[in-house]
Amino acid sequence: MALTVCERTNEMTAKLIDGKAFAFTVREKVAAHVSRIKEEAGVVPGLAVVLVGEDPASQVYVRSKGKQTVEVGMASFEHKLAADTSEAVLLALIASLNADSAVHGILVQLPLPEHLDSGLVINSIDPAKDVDGFHISNVGLLATGQKSMVPCTPLGCLMLLRDHHGSLAGMNAVVIGRSNIVGKPMAQLLLGDSCTVTIAHSRTKDLPGVVRQADIVVAAVGRPEMVTGDWIKPGATVIDVGINRVEGESGKTLLVGDVDFASASAVAGAITPVPGGVGPMTIACLLANTLTACCRALDLPEPEGLTA
Ligand code: NDP
Repeated sequence: MALTVCERTNEMTAKLIDGKAFAFTVREKVAAHVSRIKEEAGVVPGLAVVLVGEDPASQVYVRSKGKQTVEVGMASFEHKLAADTSEAVLLALIASLNADSAVHGILVQLPLPEHLDSGLVINSIDPAKDVDGFHISNVGLLATGQKSMVPCTPLGCLMLLRDHHGSLAGMNAVVIGRSNIVGKPMAQLLLGDSCTVTIAHSRTKDLPGVVRQADIVVAAVGRPEMVTGDWIKPGATVIDVGINRVEGESGKTLLVGDVDFASASAVAGAITPVPGGVGPMTIACLLANTLTACCRALDLPEPEGLTA
C-alpha cells in the first residue's frame, strides 16, 4: 500500500481526543449534581467498593476509585477482605450492601481469587446498584436497548465519540475484541447510536482489511500497538482501549495502547492517546453510574449527558 508523506514521517495529523480533560468535565458535572442532591433531597450518593485479596494493580485501582469518589462529594465505602475469604462471607457482605440505603452503587473489584465464582458474585449484586454493568440483567437490558447500568469503559468511549462527532448514525464502526466487559457492550452501545457495527476478534479473517472499512475503530485487544496506521482509513476516529505495560528502550516500563499511536495518528482524523485517553474516562463513568443509580433510587431525573 502506498504511504503518504505523513505516514513516512509519522507526522501527527489527527486531532487528539483528550480523555483526561473530558474525564475532568464529567467529574465536575457529577460533583454539581451530587451537591444538588445533597441540598434538595438530603441524600449523599454512596459507592461501595469490595476488594478481595492483595493484587497490587487492584489495590491501586481501588485507592484511586475511593479518592475520586470522595472528591466529587460522594460517600466511599471500602471493604477490603482477605484473599482466603469464603464465598459465603462475600455473598453476605453483598447482601448487606444491597440492603443498605446509603449505598447506591456496588463494585466488586475483579479479578477475584480463583476459589470464588465471579459470575455468581456479580449476579448477587442488586442490578440497580451494579455500577459496573456486569450483572446478567444489565447485560440483557443493554442488548435489548432498554435502560440499564452500562459498563464504564465502553460508556466512556461512547461519551468521547459523541463529544467528537455529535451524531454517530450511519457510521461504520469496527470494534476489535469481543470481551464481555469491553468489546460486546461497546458494540451494543454503537448499535444503539445507529452505527453499522462489526465485531472483530482473534479469528477474524483479513483484520486489517476489515478495520480499513471503519469510520470508527475501537481497539480492545490487549496486544501492544497491534493496530498500525496502514489499517486505518484516512480521517477515521480511533479509540484505543488497550493498556499494555511494555519495557521501553531505557528498561523502564511504559504504558502503550493496542494502537501504534505514531503511525495511526498520521492517518486518523482523531485518536485517543495512551495514557490519557480512555483510561481516565473509566473511573469518571463509574462515578457517573453511581450518580445515575442514586437518581433512579430517589426517582429524580437522570443527569443529562452522563448516561447512554
Ligand atoms: P480480553 O482479553 O478479555 O479480550 C481481548 C479480545 O481481543 C478478545 O475478544 C480476543 O479475541 C481479541 N484478540 C486477541 N488477540 C487478537 C488478535 N490478534 N486479533 C484480533 N483480536 C484479538 O481483554 P479486555 O476486553 O478485557 O481488554 C482489552 C484491552 O483493554 C486490554 O489491553 C485491557 O488492559 C484494556 N482495558 C482497558 C480499560 C480501561 O479502563 N482503559 C478497561 C478494561 C480493559 P477472542 O475472543 O477470539 O480470543
